[in-house]
Amino acid sequence: MKTAVGVLVLAGLAVGVVLLWPTAAPNDLVLGDVDERAVFGAELVEKAERFERFLYVLWIFSQVALLATLWVYARKGAWFTRESAAGPIGTGMLLGMLGLAIVWLVDLPFRLVGHWWALRYDVSDAGYVTWLLEDWTLLGAQFLSLSLALLIVMGLARRLGDSWWLPGAAAFVGIAALFTFVSPYIDYTTEPLRDRTLLEAADRFENALGLPDVPAHVQEVSEDTEQANAYAYGFGPTRRIVFWDTVLDDPFEPGEQRVVLAHELAHHSQQHLTEGIAWFAVFALPGAFVLMLATKRRGGMGAPEAIPLALVVAAVFQLATAPAANWVTRRMEAEADWKALEVTRDPGSVEGAMVGLSETSLGDPNPPEWVQILLGTHPALADRVAMARAWETRNRP
Ligand SMILES: [Zn+2]
Repeated sequence: MKTAVGVLVLAGLAVGVVLLWPTAAPNDLVLGDVDERAVFGAELVEKAERFERFLYVLWIFSQVALLATLWVYARKGAWFTRESAAGPIGTGMLLGMLGLAIVWLVDLPFRLVGHWWALRYDVSDAGYVTWLLEDWTLLGAQFLSLSLALLIVMGLARRLGDSWWLPGAAAFVGIAALFTFVSPYIDYTTEPLRDRTLLEAADRFENALGLPDVPAHVQEVSEDTEQANAYAYGFGPTRRIVFWDTVLDDPFEPGEQRVVLAHELAHHSQQHLTEGIAWFAVFALPGAFVLMLATKRRGGMGAPEAIPLALVVAAVFQLATAPAANWVTRRMEAEADWKALEVTRDPGSVEGAMVGLSETSLGDPNPPEWVQILLGTHPALADRVAMARAWETRNRP
């Protein structure tokens, strides 16, 4: 019975990956080398490299500190269960939150240094108080989601024993889907876009991409940062795109803003939000299975003693699968870039938008390979320029 379930799940995962893998970008597309100094300017490239290199090193140190802390907590944390009178699930949730609080504290100096660095390079203008308030909000959200996750997993494990992982993973996928669907409704930080020409371009692109009217919103961030960003979220009737107001300003020209717009709309026309949930399932199923196996000798996920161990297992699993997860999102981003080229037919503006992104966020146009593997959710900016040129070669006589 157990083997049959395992085989079925594996087959399901394989089918899922095969179905999700293809993209609209041509498979035989060869990206040429881009002289980043010529495109982005030598001065910007050097500054961005200096800015990012420091953050790479900081990231390595913070990861080492994180894993070391969680490892110690996994060994010692269970000691707290003796003091608790909260019942097994309550104790497990307390242990989870305690672990999170310790991790937050250990990581705080790294985040502080990171913010100091961003201020130094003018990438951020947010004062330390604003920054800390945001950091706390994030911690609060993490407390809530971890508690909910533990409630579900521990509740299932106490009823179903080792078989909790399958319904457990399904529950997480369900929650992810629900959250993706409703998040545009609970977002109070954006206003509808009012830029007439951009809205007209949106109508044209939606037609070309086979999309209905997708609301476009603007989020005010320019008081706190120069960084430029935009995103697509929701799915089905809740689809929406959001520009940071920094994209609607210098150094982004109207043509470059249209490129960003088309890219975000393409995330919707290519179903990237729903695909993202399916991909989440592809990772969550083995993740839950590994968690079940790893915590067996501590009494399984139903036992509070297992929770500190579960935290380090989850962290290691996430780090170990980051290269695969980033590979997936890079493919989606490349697909959105390709569709944006098809509907805007404006590779020059794609190039300009990439320079603008590097200028405002000090993104290294061509980061080291290991950085792309571990942290690269998007193709390198230089590769995105290379794609624009490849598109041009194919589409101009
Ligand atoms: Zn994107």
